[in-house]
Amino acid sequence: MKIISNPPLRRWERLAQRPALRQEKLMRTVEKIFSEIRKRGDKAVLKYSTKFDYPSQTAFPIEKETVEKASEALSERLKQAIELAKHNIEIFHLSQREEIRKVETTQGVVCWRESRPIERVGIYIPGGSAPLFSTVLMLAIPAKIAGCSEIILCTPPNIYGEIHPAILYTANLVGVNRIFAVGGIQAIGAMTFGTESIPKVDKIFGPGNQYVMAAKKIATLYGTAIDMPAGPSEVLVVADETCNPSFVASDLLSQAEHGPDSQVILLSNNKKVVKDIDAKLNEQLLALPRKEIAEEALKNSRAIVFDSLEECMYFSNLYAPEHLILAVENPHLLARKVVNAGSVFLGNYSCESAGDYASGTNHTLPTSGYAKAYSGVSLDSFIKKITFQQLSEEGLLQIGPAIEVMAETEQLYAHKNAVTLRLGEIMSKRLID
Ligand code: NAD
Repeated sequence: MKIISNPPLRRWERLAQRPALRQEKLMRTVEKIFSEIRKRGDKAVLKYSTKFDYPSQTAFPIEKETVEKASEALSERLKQAIELAKHNIEIFHLSQREEIRKVETTQGVVCWRESRPIERVGIYIPGGSAPLFSTVLMLAIPAKIAGCSEIILCTPPNIYGEIHPAILYTANLVGVNRIFAVGGIQAIGAMTFGTESIPKVDKIFGPGNQYVMAAKKIATLYGTAIDMPAGPSEVLVVADETCNPSFVASDLLSQAEHGPDSQVILLSNNKKVVKDIDAKLNEQLLALPRKEIAEEALKNSRAIVFDSLEECMYFSNLYAPEHLILAVENPHLLARKVVNAGSVFLGNYSCESAGDYASGTNHTLPTSGYAKAYSGVSLDSFIKKITFQQLSEEGLLQIGPAIEVMAETEQLYAHKNAVTLRLGEIMSKRLID
């Protein structure tokens, strides 16, 4: 990894940049594919799916029997692991349910919020280079808890036209309604417009590569909501002399192996620690089956030595990492300085893989600096919070005059009238009484 020592402040912005494909070209590609899908539906989806993924593809829906048979291809050990992860993800997301709280803002004026599920949701499961069946758990479990009535799943077929059985098994286990073998821009386009075989959805969820992320952004222009821009994975580790260099190296590589456009950043207040981690990283890299991918990602990555852990945290907040690991002596103290991050892992034993699979937190998180303004996927992502209010006569008498003068000042006389008429009726009723 490239090691940089004490960079001057003016270089920080540059050091915090992500590797990115040229956005204009990417957006043009998405617009072209979207426009074809909008006009030609399934035919256009097929054109791109056969071009990018499975050359002999003729249809997208995965039959019920194929889904049910997937169970046979999985070991009992894997099924038990999926069950454990499912249990923890359910517990954590169930804990996010909120009670209805009614508040009387003024005497006779009661306001509250109630949650309602988003009806039809589309979940994208990346499958280009790794079959991320763990993402099925992360998206379908909160969708079910929220009460979404239909869950549509799209994932790319491999070059033989297959979907990994672990994706099919997990989808069946958690109650996904329909599965389609389509990936990339064409999957997002199909769920945005709807085609003969793939339904239009209200909101699209899920991570993906830069093509998927760009397509999700464009989907919003056509009125389809998205969870967040969740693109190529990244991790930032802050390590001091109390860290275990082997552990940190394995965490850095676990993100680097996601894709060539992933990025990993190591920050420390100690140059020797950085060198030790780098040595372990080079050692572990040799044994990885996805060595080539990780090597590419490491070209986009860097280790930076700062004078203090406080400076490391300033940089980390500027970078706004998707995953932040604090491998330091007192992680709770340092955690107080976290302002921007998707998910934070405290201490030597909280590896990022725990959050990726089985601790219970969601692994669909904002990347590319979006953690400055977005949260990761949670139960809230699958619901709308609708506000309700009820005013009594007394309530309207209390706040009506204020509404009248405000509406008058904004020259919205119908607004004013809606209050004046009611106040008049209340007053005349009271005079009669
Ligand atoms: P993917 O399913 O995201 O992308 C594969 C699709 O890309 C293919 O179906 C194909 O249609 C499309 N594609 C490939 N080359 C193309 C081209 N030249 N032009 C147009 N479309 C093309 O799978 P992946 O590629 O393995 O990427 C998964 C990504 O998800 C990784 O970048 C990983 O880091 C990221 N990820 C992010 C999170 C998160 O929470 N942010 C979590 C897990 C994974």
